[in-house]
Amino acid sequence: MFATVNSDCIGCGACEAICPQVFRMNSYEIAEAYLNPIPQDVEEATKLAAKSCPVAAIILEG
Ligand code: SF4
Repeated sequence: MFATVNSDCIGCGACEAICPQVFRMNSYEIAEAYLNPIPQDVEEATKLAAKSCPVAAIILEG
C-alpha cells in the first residue's frame, strides 16, 4: 500500500498524531507521507489516519 497527501491538506495535524511513523508535517505545515510503501505493521494506523482526515486529503493505493 502507498499513501500520498494531496493539495487539499489543511495542516490540521491529525494524521501525524494518529500515525507518526508515516505522516509528518513539512516546513509548510502540510502533511507528507514519508514511508512508502507502508509497512504492514502500520497499515491499520495509516488507514485510520486517512479515515480521520477532515478533508479526505490522504489517498491510499494498492
Ligand atoms: S489529517 Fe488531513 S488535513 Fe490534517 S494534516 Fe493530515 S492530511 Fe492534512
